[in-house]
Amino acid sequence: MELFDVYSLFDVTPVRAEACTIWDDKGQEYLDLYGGHAVISVGHSHPAYVAALKEQLERIGFYSNSVRNPLQEELAHRLGEMSGYPDYSLFLDNSGAESNENAMKLASFHTGKDRIIAFRRSFHGRTSGAVAVTDNPTIVSPFNANHKVSFCDLNDAEAVEAVLKGGDVAGVIVEGIQGCGGIHVPTPEFLKALSELCDRYGACLILDEVQSGYGRSGKFFAHQWAGIRPDVISMGKGIANGFPCGGILISPKFKAVKGMLGTTFGGNYLAMAAANAVLDIISSEKLVENAYEVGEYLKSRIPASDRIAEVRGRGLMLGIEFNEPVAEIRKKLLFDEHIFTGVAGKNMVRLLAPLCLSRAEADIFIASLAKVLAQ
Ligand code: PLP
Repeated sequence: MELFDVYSLFDVTPVRAEACTIWDDKGQEYLDLYGGHAVISVGHSHPAYVAALKEQLERIGFYSNSVRNPLQEELAHRLGEMSGYPDYSLFLDNSGAESNENAMKLASFHTGKDRIIAFRRSFHGRTSGAVAVTDNPTIVSPFNANHKVSFCDLNDAEAVEAVLKGGDVAGVIVEGIQGCGGIHVPTPEFLKALSELCDRYGACLILDEVQSGYGRSGKFFAHQWAGIRPDVISMGKGIANGFPCGGILISPKFKAVKGMLGTTFGGNYLAMAAANAVLDIISSEKLVENAYEVGEYLKSRIPASDRIAEVRGRGLMLGIEFNEPVAEIRKKLLFDEHIFTGVAGKNMVRLLAPLCLSRAEADIFIASLAKVLAQ
């Protein structure tokens, strides 16, 4: 059997990794500034993380949500404290898309309405509802297109209000920082306006922090730069450092009803051991602070070049927008300089390094980029 061929892959086979370094099957070392779509938060194969997973697997590995799981309660308590949302509740699932599905379902249950407002250049995942609120026509099937969604421009609060006036809106979903659509940062004024408008019109504000959350922007969640408190916050990617895990933080205004949400694998023991280890390491190694400090350092040192149009983002969620397609630049960075980067659209190099990136590693990238730009 062949693999279903839907990914454009570089011909590199990683076999070992540590912190921000990856080795391939030929022994070549790489600097990882992408973390496999931003999932590596505390660094590859962190010893405390590996130990926590091994120890958990030896005790009890898998079980469904039919009996009490104290690891979930531990995560809920610690996540509440560390994120600044101790009064919210936690529902655990398996991925970012699933978190957004659950967030939109909650908004719809709560309001009794069925329209969602989303934004141009958004990305929310690959499940049916998540695709419907994603602004990328190439991934929308006729099935997805049947959902009721209104797209507005990011940072255009008037357009959002015009849709809210229709009276059928369950929720507004917005990324803390738009990732796959090209690192667009909503202004704090816009996020504040969204929050006020949602309150005024009785809609739920859903913050998709799947990519921008868990410390990546230099605050626990990127929306905290605007000082707002959304109704639902969706999480994924870095929450368990690559172990599949997702979840939503839910405001106290939502009433839980038995059976309203559910999952077989969400919150399983291994995912919880991984997620609790991630919080331990983020806290003991001050990785949120590091993401901000090293990210801003990196951003300020991107070489000036007339080939670069703009550098956008916060902390370790950065996009370098070029005036030309970046495919060749990324190939040179990977095969000549041995640095993994990501992409957004055709012209942007997207950097989503593990949160433990050091200044010295940032310097390596800066020197390599300068070299590639000079060619
Ligand atoms: N939301 C955002 C902002 C994302 O960037 C992604 C994935 O890239 C998702 C949701 C979907 O997450 P997953 O692939 O874990 O379903």
